[in-house]
Amino acid sequence: MSKVEVASTARRQTRIEPSALEEFAKNFRGELLKPGDAGYDEARAIWNVMIDRKPALIARCRGVADIRAAVNFARENSLLVAVKGGGHNIAGNAVCDGGLMIDLSLMRSVRIEPDTRIAHVEPGATLGDFDCEAQAFGLATPLGINSTTGVSGLTLGGGFGWLTRKYGMTVDNLVSVDVVTADGKFVHASEKNHPDLFWAIRGGSGNFGIVTRWEFKLYPLGPEVYVGLVVYSLDDAKPVMAKYRQFVSKADDNTSVWFVMRQAPPLPFLDQKYYGSDILVFACFHPGSQSDAQKAFEPVRQFAKPLGEHFGLQPYCTWQTLLDPMLTPGARNYWKSHNFAEISDGLAEVLVKYAKMIPHPETEIACACLGGAASRISPSATAYPHRNAVHVMNVHGRWREASDDEKCISWARNLFKETAQFSSGGVYVNFLTQEETGDRVKTAFGSNYERLLKTKKKYDPQNLFCMNQNISPDE
Ligand SMILES: Cc1cc2nc3c(=O)[nH]c(=O)nc-3n(C[C@H](O)[C@H](O)[C@H](O)COP(=O)(O)OP(=O)(O)OC[C@H]3O[C@@H](n4cnc5c(N)ncnc54)[C@H](O)[C@@H]3O)c2cc1C
Repeated sequence: MSKVEVASTARRQTRIEPSALEEFAKNFRGELLKPGDAGYDEARAIWNVMIDRKPALIARCRGVADIRAAVNFARENSLLVAVKGGGHNIAGNAVCDGGLMIDLSLMRSVRIEPDTRIAHVEPGATLGDFDCEAQAFGLATPLGINSTTGVSGLTLGGGFGWLTRKYGMTVDNLVSVDVVTADGKFVHASEKNHPDLFWAIRGGSGNFGIVTRWEFKLYPLGPEVYVGLVVYSLDDAKPVMAKYRQFVSKADDNTSVWFVMRQAPPLPFLDQKYYGSDILVFACFHPGSQSDAQKAFEPVRQFAKPLGEHFGLQPYCTWQTLLDPMLTPGARNYWKSHNFAEISDGLAEVLVKYAKMIPHPETEIACACLGGAASRISPSATAYPHRNAVHVMNVHGRWREASDDEKCISWARNLFKETAQFSSGGVYVNFLTQEETGDRVKTAFGSNYERLLKTKKKYDPQNLFCMNQNISPDE
């Protein structure tokens, strides 16, 4: 093999000698791709096309042995390392310029133990892979809302979705992990084994090693759930949001109602005359019986006179892909996020003001509703600290042309600035963009930062795993 240039970082300016690369390639079961190789561009592509980086080498792993070999190769040759799970992180940390990209996306197996209600998940599995296998046995665990997202990155940041109010964050349902640490060792971590590492993995991002297998608890669900959407005009937002605030304050753990402000997409149940108009949508999920769900959602349908609504029973797996068409890879994306304890009148006013100035039809202001079981866990129980975050706002700037970058990014930044006064503090680490480093990362780890730093110094003192929301061991 020819020489491969790798990126220069402060401590990693390295060329790979052909002999070293040949040695690495000898026992590697997966694929090793260099620029120009067939499949190289597909393998380096990630969800957010704003990030366009070219690794010197992509190691597409087929098993734990490949992952260990790649970690050892990177360390011994002082390479810059990026790790790709599902490739959805907005900051683009799954891919590096130069250096070695360790790509886990060929490892997507999910094995369900129906009797013990346990899932064993490989590190390249997507949420869709997981849901599909678990639902074959009528089981599920809290995951996110877009089926192509990677289980790995989602879990490493905490993970939330429609089941979070009922069963907590994704990390609250983690039983154990297998990890390849920076020294190439294979570690099984759980509450009993390496509890410090297990704690840090549950929200500390990819700082501590490469997770090669996840073990999750599962719960009976579905296979059909009663769910729906209610669409209001944004002009009615003031009274509607006040009623929503009351509704959330009384909602039980089964009832999850999230909202989105955007321009109306061509929803089949909506009169065409509303397409493109400013709307406020409530997405309603309930894991219980149809009658309980109908009762729970009734107030949401009465917030005002809806422009349209659609409710019904549908397979949980279908619901989990509902938003996929609006979240496909290939667009330019820029996010900003705050946590809120409630949506006050003042906050709602600012959201509506910006929703009326949305710079592109694919852009939206989305707000998840957590709380419930997730909020009854101590902030120090796992590395994910934001147990008081009832609403997690994602200002989701999304557009197609580079010429719109400035317009869309400044809209998102201005909205972020104007809503900061309402924030309950902290930010979800998985929503941080590439320029949000340093103190912003500390804000994301909140009160758990010092403990995470100690764990980083123990498991990755040389910061081999630095392409993430990084905790620098040099501090
Ligand atoms: C369309 C969309 C919808 C989303 N919806 C939700 C949601 O509903 N709920 C929610 O909680 N989040 C959501 N997110 C955020 C999501 O959780 C993060 O983007 C997450 O990082 C994606 O994980 P990934 O494996 O796809 O990403 P990647 O970009 O592959 O990885 C993310 C980070 O984790 C590291 N990493 C990946 N795999 C491993 C591993 N096995 N071991 C160690 N480090 C690893 C990477 O190096 C990188 O730093 C969404 C994101 C998108 C783009």
